[in-house]
Amino acid sequence: MKTSIYGLTFEQLTDWLVDHGEKKFRSKQVWEWLYQKRVTDFDDMKNVNQSCIDVLKENFTIETLSEEIKQESEDGTVKYLFKLHDGNIIETVMMRFNYGLSVCVTTQVGCNIGCSFCASGVLRKNRDLTGGEITEQIMKVQHDLDGKQKGERVSHIVVMGIGEPFDNYDNLIDFLNVVNDKKGLSIGARHITVSTSGIAPKMYEFADEGIQINLALSIHAPNNELRTQIMKINRAYPLEKLMPAIDYYLEKTNRRITFEYILLKDVNDHVKEAHQLADLLMDKKHLSYVNLIPYNPVADNPYERSDKEAILNFYQTLMDRGIKCGVRTEHGTDIDAACGQLRSKQIEKEKARKKGKKEKAGV
Ligand code: SAH
Ligand code: SF4
Repeated sequence: MKTSIYGLTFEQLTDWLVDHGEKKFRSKQVWEWLYQKRVTDFDDMKNVNQSCIDVLKENFTIETLSEEIKQESEDGTVKYLFKLHDGNIIETVMMRFNYGLSVCVTTQVGCNIGCSFCASGVLRKNRDLTGGEITEQIMKVQHDLDGKQKGERVSHIVVMGIGEPFDNYDNLIDFLNVVNDKKGLSIGARHITVSTSGIAPKMYEFADEGIQINLALSIHAPNNELRTQIMKINRAYPLEKLMPAIDYYLEKTNRRITFEYILLKDVNDHVKEAHQLADLLMDKKHLSYVNLIPYNPVADNPYERSDKEAILNFYQTLMDRGIKCGVRTEHGTDIDAACGQLRSKQIEKEKARKKGKKEKAGV
């Protein structure tokens, strides 16, 4: 199986080409064709010598994802379901904001963290995505935009699709290096956000990377009892392990951290919990931002979205305590744009179709 060329950082590509007898400067040319002129065929790399093209073709592919479904929402959100070379399906979402175009990428096929409210967690992890497969999601969206010839470009990335990015750490870092590279897509580190459910040791490692990428922590509850109830990862990394990891990150990077908090009706949305959350963040409030997320209900799941009033009270309580926060506006609700929802629907459909076939065949 040939690997995706998008999985290589510029340095890795340079080393690889030199190891294969090519001149060092070729990597700059190849990189330009991939990320600036954005060809999808090695033969279109016009100023690259034939021996280099041949050796690349023998070892790499450019396109490994195929578009299965594409849905466009009235608000401009576009949701893609891509099929991987092994038949697995992933989803990628492009959202339009006044500050630019943001793409939400998937990092794993399913997720093993198993948060009880999440459609992706219910499906378990099948495998990690390679760095190339993560990068290719951005390229697919960019190629789509290129085709429309309006000169639009992906300007922001959120690593908030299916999967736990810190459970696929090395591939995540390669991906971040590729998209951030000034010679290529050049998507600014400050325009990229990685969201984690709180794998504490990796938060230390991330702080040490020395990159300006934003970190978001899915906190979702202000005490261990409640957090363990909705996120079982809290058993391994409870708040007393998470908070020092956050402090380390803040000290090391001096960058603001976002705390994501899904509001689940009558579970974690009382004013009492808003106060507990404020207590928890009080000593770092100058570098904290809480993103309150109205829950997107998932089928076969006990949770409901909080009432508007509860959301407002929660928000107001945090604001009154001096904690900066906002309520996430939704994108593409008419097209199942919440994390993992379109994918899980598609998997259900496939299952139903297979079952129907079996029943028809009398199995
Ligand atoms: N695994 C990482 C990143 C992917 S999930 C993490 O958990 O942070 C990205 C965000 O979407 C998380 O904050 C997650 O809690 C949230 N999310 C998951 N399912 C949701 C749903 N049904 N409605 C609203 N937000 C959801
Ligand atoms: Fe995995 Fe994030 Fe979903 Fe939890 S919320 S199951 S960590 S994708």
